[in-house]
Amino acid sequence: MAMFRPRISERSGNRMDITKLSKLYIDTTDDLLFLVRVTGDSAPYEFRFESVNAAYLRHTGLTEAMIGRTIAETLPPDVVDFVQAKFTEAVASRRTILYEEPVTFLGNERIVETTLTPFFDAAAGRPESLLGVTRDITERKRSERFIRESEERYRTLVQLSPDSILIHDEGEIVFCNEACARLVQADHPDELLGTNMFDYLMPDAQRKMELLMQRIYGMESGELPAFETKLVRRKTREVIDVEGTAAFVEHNGKKLLQVVLRNVTKRSIEKERLQRLSQLDGLTNIANRRYFDAVMTREVNRARRNKLPIALLLFDIDNFKKYNDMYGHLTGDDCLKRVTVAASRMLKRPGDLLARFGGEEFAVLLPETDVFGAETVAEQLRTTIESLAIPHPQSDVLPVVTISVGVSSMTRPTSADIVPFIERADRALYAAKRNGKNRVEVYDKLSFRHE
Ligand code: GH3
Ligand code: MG
Ligand code: MG
Repeated sequence: MAMFRPRISERSGNRMDITKLSKLYIDTTDDLLFLVRVTGDSAPYEFRFESVNAAYLRHTGLTEAMIGRTIAETLPPDVVDFVQAKFTEAVASRRTILYEEPVTFLGNERIVETTLTPFFDAAAGRPESLLGVTRDITERKRSERFIRESEERYRTLVQLSPDSILIHDEGEIVFCNEACARLVQADHPDELLGTNMFDYLMPDAQRKMELLMQRIYGMESGELPAFETKLVRRKTREVIDVEGTAAFVEHNGKKLLQVVLRNVTKRSIEKERLQRLSQLDGLTNIANRRYFDAVMTREVNRARRNKLPIALLLFDIDNFKKYNDMYGHLTGDDCLKRVTVAASRMLKRPGDLLARFGGEEFAVLLPETDVFGAETVAEQLRTTIESLAIPHPQSDVLPVVTISVGVSSMTRPTSADIVPFIERADRALYAAKRNGKNRVEVYDKLSFRHE
């Protein structure tokens, strides 16, 4: 391609060069240029082609023979009326007019844009000629339509999306959809524009989100991390769990974050419910063995770190086999439930944990409790069950349901291992059974302890 040299600026005022340049432009442009002579003082005017450029002939397939002919003699019959009307409009309005029209160039459907400028006789003001420039805008129209359609598709998708979608500029909401308004309980998405996204978060969720946003802004692009957070609804002040993903988007020429949020409260509640269920014993509704072991490990560790005592009680119903034999298994189950209810009512400290250890055997974890405290609790537990006075005529201890309790304690655990802790309580329980049942034995006091 030849280099374009700006001769005009080098030799300013050289009219010859402007004429040359104009001719060069007329000959090489892809726009269709035409000059039409106008005859007549008023409509209907006669329009005759006076000159056209190379692009005009190339696109329309017409020949130089059109020069000097009227539009009716030159153009396809179906467009003559339209062209006559537009040319007349330009002359009548005495200024440049612009219009679009579909045309057929050499069998191809195109869309063109035409500007028509009328020229008048300086003295009499009569119309003399029309300069026309017709440009093929088919591609521009196509890409405009493509953009418009994809924008519409995107907007519909976003508006109808059940997920909340918002775009924010360092927290300030610059766009959000209907679902987002519903999520935070605004009447209309516009209400949220200009407000800060962080204002809808729980205070501790705000700090986490700020850290996450900092991290995301540092990431530039790629896979951004998904997150979970807690949102406060505007009207009911309910706290809901939401799950979100973020992506960078261009918005008014700025690179902002688009966030998609989904209410997962139901899922979280269900998860919590299942988790609670998995920690409970089905019959008695107290902690099960698995959960108890987990808590005990955690608590023993805590006691070790904080140099605190911790105690464990194991208790077992006396002669329970005989109870079942006499009253049947279902009444046996009832008895287990009553013992559990009484025991959990008796344990007052929130840190105390009662669990079903297996069968008719139970455990109580007493954090921050020394051996004396633990023995006291064990004794209270024993009297509590005895005073329930659940009839048990077959018992070889008393005619009511009783328990035996084994106590083990650590002034300050030196290891997180819970097994020896449980074994010691079990040996104390065994001693309580052997020493006559309906009694408490403390491992530390057992005579066989150092055997
Ligand atoms: P001891 O005084 O030495 O504790 O004698 P025991 O009869 O209580 O002890 P043993 O271990 O011989 O029997 C425990 C009984 O507890 C046997 C079992 O059927 C009963 N049992 C265990 N779990 C349940 C339960 O969930 N429901 C009922 N009804 N009985 C249970
Ligand atoms: Mg028993
Ligand atoms: Mg037993």
